[in-house]
Amino acid sequence: MRPILLAASPPQELIAPSELAAVVDRSGYVTLQDGRAFIPLASRGCGIGCKYCYIASPASAVEALPEARVRDLLQTLSDHIDRLPSASRPILAIGCDTEIAMSRAVLANAMMCLDFATELHLPVQVATKFPLPEPLLHRFDHWPIGRPKPIVFTTITTMLLSSRLEPNAPTPEKRSANFRRHSIAWRSFALIKPFLETSHKDRETLLGLLMRSRPDGIVVGVRYRRARASNAPRSG
Ligand code: SF4
Repeated sequence: MRPILLAASPPQELIAPSELAAVVDRSGYVTLQDGRAFIPLASRGCGIGCKYCYIASPASAVEALPEARVRDLLQTLSDHIDRLPSASRPILAIGCDTEIAMSRAVLANAMMCLDFATELHLPVQVATKFPLPEPLLHRFDHWPIGRPKPIVFTTITTMLLSSRLEPNAPTPEKRSANFRRHSIAWRSFALIKPFLETSHKDRETLLGLLMRSRPDGIVVGVRYRRARASNAPRSG
């Protein structure tokens, strides 16, 4: 399905990406695709420097979107959701355009999104390559009963090549701490995305880690498109 971009200001309406992509930086937009609303947290960079990343400057220090901008985006999204039938309310996807744990400002933006999801009773999914920072862990452990349970996707693409392909990320072993934090309030999934054709030994080592740490679920995803873009996230 083609994505739709939701701009905060101006213009405040849905715009087909073909009309938009050539003229604006997509990082300031919410992307609506496949039942999910991808919320940008950064205007540029990440700092992890993954070699397979789709953003323009994955190794550059992250520049968080200003708080007021994220607030505007969420307000615009809220107005959009108000017009939708309840069955079409999107999943809020955060952490797809940068690493939420690399910067306090990005983490603060992520927390704002979680407040928004709680308020609107939206399902939420979070992607990270870090053990969950304490404020996030606390938020998930105390997620209100009766709201859709959040899902945390901890990304692991390779065990043996991680230090080369994801130079500034914690080791997969350290990330797997998220899988052992089973809770009735939220779900912790392993996200093997993009799936990299490395070696039999690498796959065996990864399977060994997953068997030891027992995530609630495992999702395997395909490689992203090669063309790099601004921090606008893609579902891949
Ligand atoms: S953590 Fe995610 S956004 Fe950051 S460089 Fe790696 S793939 Fe890109």
